[in-house]
Amino acid sequence: MQYFINVVLPIPLEKQFTYSISEEESQVLLAGMRVAVPFGKSKVYTGLVFSIHNNPPEIYEAKPIHQILDDSILVNQAQLKHWQWIADYYMCTLGEVFRSAIPSAFLLESETLILLNKQVEVDEKELKDDEFLVYEALQYQSMLRVHEVAAIIERKNTLPILNRLIAKGVIVLKEELYEQYRPKLVRYVKMGESYQSESELESLLDSLKRAPKQSQVILSLFQLEATSKNPIKVSELETNSGASRAIIKALIDKEILEEYFIRTDRVNYDKDGAATNLKDLNEFQEEALSEIRKSFENNKVALLHGVTSSGKTEVYVELIEECIKEGKQALYLLPEIALTTQLIGRLQDYFGEQVSVFHSKYNIQERVEVYNNVLVSKSKAQIVIGARSAMFLPFSNLGLIVVDEEHESSFKQFDPAPRYHARDSAIVLGNLHRSNIVLGSATPSIESYQNAKTKKYGYAQITRRFGNVLMPEMELVDIKEQHRKKRMKGHFSERLVDEINETLEVGEQIILFQNRRGFAPILECTTCGHSPQCPNCDVSLTYHQYKKQLRCHYCGHHIALPESCQACGSSTLDTKGFGTERVEQELKKLFPEVKVARMDLDTTRGKHAFEKIITSFEQQEVDILVGTQMVTKGLDFRNVSLVGIMNADSLLNFPDYRAHERSFQLLTQVAGRAGRTQKRGKVIIQTYNPYHQILRQVTSGDYEAMFKEQLYEREQFKYPPHNKIIQITFKHKDYNRLNEAAEWFAKGLRNTFRANVLGPEFPPVVRIRNQYIKHVLLKIPAGQSLAKTKSSIKRIEKSFNAVASFRSVRILYNVDHI
Ligand code: ADP
Ligand code: ZN
Ligand code: ZN
Repeated sequence: MQYFINVVLPIPLEKQFTYSISEEESQVLLAGMRVAVPFGKSKVYTGLVFSIHNNPPEIYEAKPIHQILDDSILVNQAQLKHWQWIADYYMCTLGEVFRSAIPSAFLLESETLILLNKQVEVDEKELKDDEFLVYEALQYQSMLRVHEVAAIIERKNTLPILNRLIAKGVIVLKEELYEQYRPKLVRYVKMGESYQSESELESLLDSLKRAPKQSQVILSLFQLEATSKNPIKVSELETNSGASRAIIKALIDKEILEEYFIRTDRVNYDKDGAATNLKDLNEFQEEALSEIRKSFENNKVALLHGVTSSGKTEVYVELIEECIKEGKQALYLLPEIALTTQLIGRLQDYFGEQVSVFHSKYNIQERVEVYNNVLVSKSKAQIVIGARSAMFLPFSNLGLIVVDEEHESSFKQFDPAPRYHARDSAIVLGNLHRSNIVLGSATPSIESYQNAKTKKYGYAQITRRFGNVLMPEMELVDIKEQHRKKRMKGHFSERLVDEINETLEVGEQIILFQNRRGFAPILECTTCGHSPQCPNCDVSLTYHQYKKQLRCHYCGHHIALPESCQACGSSTLDTKGFGTERVEQELKKLFPEVKVARMDLDTTRGKHAFEKIITSFEQQEVDILVGTQMVTKGLDFRNVSLVGIMNADSLLNFPDYRAHERSFQLLTQVAGRAGRTQKRGKVIIQTYNPYHQILRQVTSGDYEAMFKEQLYEREQFKYPPHNKIIQITFKHKDYNRLNEAAEWFAKGLRNTFRANVLGPEFPPVVRIRNQYIKHVLLKIPAGQSLAKTKSSIKRIEKSFNAVASFRSVRILYNVDHI
């Protein structure tokens, strides 16, 4: 009898590869273990066993595997099923899902570069001989390729040794070093090494008789240590002893005290002392909770629609508590930028060390550690909070999934494949585990709300802020009129300036929001605010400088750049927008005394930058924070009473059928940062279009009206949720070949799908990294089978690839493109 395995390789291959194994190997191997396998002429890959069988491949001779890399499975059956669904639904290969689903440390291959891990002190005695050889070689050579290691240890099979070295923290992979996430560190103190025993301590206190403040610090530290098993923060000691920082520092300098640092998300809590009791929910939260439970009983996903600061997090906490009491795992998903230390800290207060954080920017060891903890269901990882990739962890007993801020478009992975939506994929995952699923938002996506309306999802609502804090007061300021009356100072209306002054006077803080996203801007009339729209689609036309045209990205409709405004006739057309930097500049002129900070992609590139800005704003070292949508997500600042939106029109006119939905969501979220405590907050929205429906809906908090109108428009223009869409992207460095190829493909699609094929159309940025890009958009009406549609597309792709000159054109699929 011959034995074979089908192996998933972490590369975009349509088919699985078959390798031969011995009978002994067949007895230990299980689907979900890793094997090192040869591929091509000289490559070695880490592959994943998918199935074990006795059928030799038909067209090639199966090569034997190099080696088995695991003693037990690394990937469980539920994961494999989930991956398969993702590959089918999002039109990519299982190998691509494999590559992005597990930490890259598990995926060593012959070309991987390895380096010494400088952050770990290696105990050489702990290393086996062959491990030591690698370690030694890396002392002299800063970097090695995996296949070079083979020569050093004089053996072909290097992956097991390297895997061990990774587990011991001795080496790291090159790709991991690009951007190391540095989480916030907290300063702790303990007694110095020479003052651990009672007698030493007594003589110490004796010697400090003349320094009463210093002895007070020591005594306080003792008291604190006696009452809590947790590490003592420097700040705690400060408040407790009433001593100044300088005194504590003096003691540290004398080595009487010792300071040390722990990452805020890695503090070990002791089981009995630390955990804060859950809060008692108010009646509105209770009611929402019982609605959610009802949905669960009916095996439905629950949508929690609660206004900003209504206490949704506390409701999730209650559900998490129930889940872990049953001994099950809980997963809390958030968009990357909402995954703040604020929230992590809150959950840790309740659940202590049962909370693990999984973050794509965490370093390799940490990700491996969390992965392994989940794999063996350690209680340490019973609750996982993370961004979208956390749903790929090896859960075996998942009882609850929370998707917070479910409307966020950043849940969709854009590049590379799999181009999955984490909310939707998490729902599939939840169904595989039969777990409860709750989606939460102050501004649900049109899709989810529609699902609630049609009773596919359960629905729970909280319409009041916690503690009966009033929703902020919103005011629209017509900047067109302000311009006319010459009441604008730069981009600031008189109203906004007055409000800023008043807020500063009473010592409260301000957030100013300016969304400057976008490449080719839209054209806007500075007199009347009109911006030209596409007659066929509900979007603004995009200005394309290179052709002096306005174009629609969805249907290709285009017109020559008009010389005067089509609405009011004046020639004050302007394409230039203004960004956060400009706002910051103008602020400094208007309020020279005031401390201003800016938070956008440019200012948060550095390692600690994001946390630093947040902390200094929290501690009120900054009066005004200017930012892009980064300032909107999940931040809970106590002292902010004014939020200013510099220009709402740039959001509304964004060329996308979702622009209005997004504007509503974004503006509501930003506004939600104002007045989260007792005093009612204020929001000023500057706009050229104070009568714009969306702005009216935002200021009156009328989600329902926004939903109805948007749903109607989506229906008219055949967009989701009524239709599904698949975007097909073509890329090639040759302009003409790309055009020809995209047209050929689109023609194939039109044969079958007729008018539901839009494009091919150039995006506003036609060429990126020397590749020309074209998109085709396919709309799939409700009755049409998605599976059949995809196989038609695949058939067309096959004949497309048979045309020699097209073969080098790259095709990317984006299902449910957003
Ligand atoms: P949301 O997630 O809906 O924006 P949060 O959960 O952040 O709201 O709650 C807003 C504020 O109200 C937080 O500071 C939170 O601690 C507080 N809060 C919410 N629910 C309760 C409760 N039941 N008891 C005490 N405080 C609460
Ligand atoms: Zn005009
Ligand atoms: Zn159009």
